[in-house]
Amino acid sequence: MSVNQQAHTGPPYGQPQPGYQGYQQPAYGGQPLPGAPQSQYGGPYNGPMPGYQQPVPPQGYFPSLGFPSKGSPVSLNSDTSSLAPNFIGSLRAPPTSGAPPPASGASLPSGHPGYNQFGHGDVQNGIPASAASMQRPPTSQPFLPGSAPTPVSQPATFQQYGHPPASVQQLSNHMAGMTIASTTASAPPPAGLGYGPPTSAPPVSGIFTATGSGLYTPYTASPGPPPTTVSQGLPLAQPPFPGQPTPTQRLPTQVPGFAPPPPSTGIGPSSYPPATGAPRPPTMPGPPLPGQTLAGPPASQPNHVSSPPPPSTMSGPHPGPPMGGLHGPPPPTHPPQPGYQMQQNGPFGQVRGPQPNYGGAYPGTPNYGTQPGPPAPQKRLDPDSIPSPQLNELPPQQKPRHRIDPDAIPSPIQVIEDDRNNRGSEPFVTGVRGQVPPLVTTNFVVKDQGNASPRYIRCTSYNIPCTSDMAKQSQVPLAAVIKPLATLPPEETLPYLVDHGESGPVRCNRCKAYMCPFMQFIEGGRRFQCCFCSCVTEVPPHYFQHLDHTGKRVDFYDRPELSLGSYEFLATVDYCKNNKFPSPPAFIFMIDVSYNAMKSGLVKLICEELKSLLDYLPREGNMEESAIRVGFVTYNKVLHFYNVKSSLAQPQMMVVSDVADMFVPLLDGFLVNVNESRTVIASLLDQIPEMFADTRETETVFAPVIQAGLEALKAAECAGKLFIFHTSLPIAEAPGKLKNRDDKKLINTDKEKTLFQPQTSFYNNLAKDCVAQGCCVDLFLFPNQYLDVATLGVVTYQTGGSIYKYAYFQLETDQDRFLNDLRRDVQKEVGFDAVMRVRTSTGIRATDFFGAFYMSNTTDVEMAGLDCDKTITVEFKHDDKLSEDSGALLQCALLYTSCAGQRRLRIHNLSLNCCTQLADLYRNCETDTLINYLAKYAYRGVLSSPVKTVRDALINQCAQILACYRKNCASPSSAGQLILPECMKLLPVYLNCVLKSDVLQPGLEVTTDDRAYIRQLVTSMDVAETNVFFYPRLLSLTKADVDSDALPAAIRNSEERLSRGDIYLLENGLNIFVWVGVNVQQSFIQNLFGVSSFSQISNALSTLPVLENPFSKKVRSIIDTIQAQRSRYMKLIIVKQEDKLEMLFKHFLVEDKSLSGGASYVDFLCHMHKEIRQLLS
Ligand SMILES: [Zn+2]
Repeated sequence: MSVNQQAHTGPPYGQPQPGYQGYQQPAYGGQPLPGAPQSQYGGPYNGPMPGYQQPVPPQGYFPSLGFPSKGSPVSLNSDTSSLAPNFIGSLRAPPTSGAPPPASGASLPSGHPGYNQFGHGDVQNGIPASAASMQRPPTSQPFLPGSAPTPVSQPATFQQYGHPPASVQQLSNHMAGMTIASTTASAPPPAGLGYGPPTSAPPVSGIFTATGSGLYTPYTASPGPPPTTVSQGLPLAQPPFPGQPTPTQRLPTQVPGFAPPPPSTGIGPSSYPPATGAPRPPTMPGPPLPGQTLAGPPASQPNHVSSPPPPSTMSGPHPGPPMGGLHGPPPPTHPPQPGYQMQQNGPFGQVRGPQPNYGGAYPGTPNYGTQPGPPAPQKRLDPDSIPSPQLNELPPQQKPRHRIDPDAIPSPIQVIEDDRNNRGSEPFVTGVRGQVPPLVTTNFVVKDQGNASPRYIRCTSYNIPCTSDMAKQSQVPLAAVIKPLATLPPEETLPYLVDHGESGPVRCNRCKAYMCPFMQFIEGGRRFQCCFCSCVTEVPPHYFQHLDHTGKRVDFYDRPELSLGSYEFLATVDYCKNNKFPSPPAFIFMIDVSYNAMKSGLVKLICEELKSLLDYLPREGNMEESAIRVGFVTYNKVLHFYNVKSSLAQPQMMVVSDVADMFVPLLDGFLVNVNESRTVIASLLDQIPEMFADTRETETVFAPVIQAGLEALKAAECAGKLFIFHTSLPIAEAPGKLKNRDDKKLINTDKEKTLFQPQTSFYNNLAKDCVAQGCCVDLFLFPNQYLDVATLGVVTYQTGGSIYKYAYFQLETDQDRFLNDLRRDVQKEVGFDAVMRVRTSTGIRATDFFGAFYMSNTTDVEMAGLDCDKTITVEFKHDDKLSEDSGALLQCALLYTSCAGQRRLRIHNLSLNCCTQLADLYRNCETDTLINYLAKYAYRGVLSSPVKTVRDALINQCAQILACYRKNCASPSSAGQLILPECMKLLPVYLNCVLKSDVLQPGLEVTTDDRAYIRQLVTSMDVAETNVFFYPRLLSLTKADVDSDALPAAIRNSEERLSRGDIYLLENGLNIFVWVGVNVQQSFIQNLFGVSSFSQISNALSTLPVLENPFSKKVRSIIDTIQAQRSRYMKLIIVKQEDKLEMLFKHFLVEDKSLSGGASYVDFLCHMHKEIRQLLS
């Protein structure tokens, strides 16, 4: 095969991380930036400061900026044949027994006794123990002294650091004027508080979008006189903004709800569906016709929908009730009821055909964890029972009027659009405490003025209740989603690296918090009071500086740690394991060469790719070559190690067949520098596919492979990463051997949790050893059947590694995805031997952690490796009262080893407001972050509780959150009204997406491995990733403007929104679909697929043909843009309307009912309303 260099010219870190929104934004850092760091840091600093690193060659966090041009290519294949005999010779005489004794690592303590920087005891800022600190490798991100303060007019790129105080003040004031955050509960909220659009720009849809007050989004189920008919009453019944609260009003307006918006209300760019209650044009024929079967080709399954769905799922006549709706109660005879009772026929009843296997509407289905069976209207505790007529009194013919118009309930698309319009144009300046950042879907630039960028930390709320009682009452979880090594867009400045020399960073004597903008200098600058624990610490002499008349140090703007939210310190030897500076890390590639891997062509593909990929290992700054060493292992039932020492003419193989007690048979020559051993490595990679071409070995081992990598890193005394390419359940006799224990019958039983648990504790212990060594494990899986991801993934998960799964891997259709993932994974920024601690100011503390890591105590999150995509979610609880004056502070400190072996500390600080009024809490929440937390909480819950219990708990918690708001913050109103806080109006729709996700409510086509895989992925996702994963992005391609760079506007995830005459794209970060309607104009089909009719479109395509016309170019550009925004390459699946694959696609239309029983958005909203009413009554 040919290795395509062009395909991944995308920079390694240039892949915009999902957090960045800019839909239009092409890959960040897309261009190599060889000189960038220099110019970047040359400017803003003023005068040499003690402790600052002297200028060094510019380096940055661009260890590898795209594939540089490959220097001095070596012919890799030139002499393979002539040298092969030697090689084979050693292959046949493996020195299995005569090998060196096990490098058991006895010489290396496996703990980290030397880790004391997080310790409470003896780490001081004093003189370091070793002079070795003088010989540190060059740093990146040098904080250069000697430059002038940045003028205000400086371009945003290199930001404000060094601004004269006045300028900064100016900016802060400006921000304050923007009213992003209200700091006191009593102040009247300025217009546009929160995310709400400004008063002057009322939203189009009127009813549910933010209004000037920005506080509430009330809607009700027609509490007033009911409209007599849908067509007469609803569209015109209410002016768009009846009772609009004024900006100073905090009371919600009771807008009659569940009513369609005014006729002008369109969602998104398309006016479809009609806004009135007129019958909708038929859009999709709905589910497959009777007799149609769904036998999805395995190879074309999306990532996590890997096994062919059983035909029984979809075939045959559709059983089950026709449309959802209340099964039990007779049709209503009265005018519309408040609230949920309005569900009669399903929101889209007339439009859809019968749906197979649909559960009934929520009250009767187990969807929400309620008891199956017919709904029990009497169970409802309806505080409005008097004005609410009984359902069974309503005549059937009036049913249609109770339809809830989907346009009348909060729309994710509208909220995203509004935020983008309102907040996308201004930079987000972090100088103000407790500011809620723009949504993750908004493209914005961040200017660090003392708080960490939302790209590093997002919180569920930026205003924390002062007391534990308030927090409990609201049930709003207090959590921060932290991505310590997040990639930044090129226009933002990377954290500066501060070198305090031998004395190391300045820290509080008591709590060990690091110097930060919130520390208070006193006594003329001789001491400082800790903002976290209030302890007073002497300022070390070398750090002393005078204060100005405001009490601020005069070097405030010259020191990142005094004026910025995020920065790095160079760590001293005290922060290193065993008090020794670390060696550069190593990468070990470990390739399964059993029958399945050989047959599929996978091994050859990997070897070919590595030949070029090894030239792009992460480098630090402008280092000419990567410091990372590499090693190679192949395996099936036994392991083969390779000596690729540069002095050898040919690689040598050493076989270890005693897998019960793994050791590394060679030390010298196993881990090598790529450039030095280039020829030998190339020869090895050429020979591996030939050597095992005729293998009949189908069995594999797994744990010994990890053990081998671990032992090799121990022997080399370094941290590193294992890249394991594995195909099957490890059933060969060896430690960690597994059995097939898959059993889908356990679903919905109390034993379902065992499907998510590892089947042996062996891997947990192995993971612990790996973390102690800094051995991170990345796993690439290529299963054709169950291989127990829940168990195999344990080590990956606990070491901070990444897992990738390519079910039914086929070269033709899957290699693009795999190679793109591999390239990015190998090149991305990663820190090794990482330890993270989150400190908080008095009153709250971090109590719980979610993510891919290991914890040996209750405070330190340990990760053998932490890459730029990994996120840790931290939950906080009160342990005392907080004060509105002082607010609450977080400081996240990450100690890690860079890819060049430099030990560093990355610090992120964030200040939050505190409130005594619940309304302030609800006004400063962020639903996307809340959903990130709730999903992770639930996904961990399935390890120990029945899935139904987990779903119930989620629903209950959210109902309590909303009920507390209703009770304490909303104005008195009929209980028949559902009133949602403005900032949480999407909570129901997003929560429903979590509840019906494959982990919590699997469809029949979802495998046990898929669920375990998704569970692990989501646990490390950032807020932008969970946002699009749970609520996919759906775009109309036929409506795209081919002359614009912009992406077409998004539309809501419902079949209702699809037109038979259009082509759509749907993506969720893991899958990407192109859906083609049956009535699409022939010209679109010709231009996009190069065929003349709908029937000729092949759904086996995994890429779109490259055609020279504007439409084709536009669509491919959209796909490229989206791919670049995601951390994983998404496989493209073409779905033709009414084709069998369409069921797969519909799985992602999350506002609709799902085949697995998940509720539609409308049904779920009604269900939530009922839950809330029960809580209030
Ligand atoms: Zn302290």
